[in-house]
Amino acid sequence: MNLVNMVDLLNYVKKGEATAAFNFIGLDDFKGIVCAAERQQVPVILQVSQSTAAQIGLDYAVALTRVAASKASVPICLHLDHATSIDLISEAISCGFTSVMYDGSSLPFEENLSQTARVVKMAHDAGVSVEAELGRVGGKEDDIDVSIDDQVLVDPLQARDFVLATGIDFLAPAVGTAHGLYKGTPNIRFDLISAVVELVEVPLVLHGGSDIPESMLRRAIQAGIRKINVGTDLQVALAAALRRALSSQEGAPNMRKVHVIAQDAVCDVACDKIAICRGKQ
Ligand SMILES: [Zn+2]
Repeated sequence: MNLVNMVDLLNYVKKGEATAAFNFIGLDDFKGIVCAAERQQVPVILQVSQSTAAQIGLDYAVALTRVAASKASVPICLHLDHATSIDLISEAISCGFTSVMYDGSSLPFEENLSQTARVVKMAHDAGVSVEAELGRVGGKEDDIDVSIDDQVLVDPLQARDFVLATGIDFLAPAVGTAHGLYKGTPNIRFDLISAVVELVEVPLVLHGGSDIPESMLRRAIQAGIRKINVGTDLQVALAAALRRALSSQEGAPNMRKVHVIAQDAVCDVACDKIAICRGKQ
């Protein structure tokens, strides 16, 4: 299949279910994610952060994903996550990304709105979907670090105005989740998710989908979340598998074997997340 944008991809996801979106940083997690999508026979969104884009290159990410999509039996989308630079977004679109997120959440509302509208015009002209954030999601994502004190929850009425004025395709409202690992139990505001769902026409995205109890993820989907972003949980599984595999080897390392073990570990965790997104046990 060809790479698709997020709007087209969501057409393959049943109502009442969510799609999983996974960040990858290298070939092991990339292949683990694609393996999970194939095993579960669901469409999947592969995401690249700004730092990963700088490390592996936008062109490499596109080339990898195009190969995966051409071989896959499920739709695949390549999404640029949390881009704060419009120049980078423009470059990603030129390279072949099919979806982008513009993160203007650190800007004043009006500026976030006008910049996001600019991105939407540019992206839609190329058939690329756009996600934007309102409020400020806490935690550390790449070089974006938002302390608990700086977290701002979304205002549903502002969300309605923002979506109408910008024409975005997906909205990531800050509803209490955070990037990375949680220090205590996350305080997800399901009431806010429901309130935003009532007021906006576009699908909602839950950021910081790692390290959250399964019951909470299920409840967020029931409240109306259609896309769940997962990054840290895959990296935790990847690191643990690499440690295990390396420490069990003696003499000359068999790195192929190590990478296969790492890919399998990522695939297993991604399968679990996909099952939750589909409402399966
Ligand atoms: Zn995020």
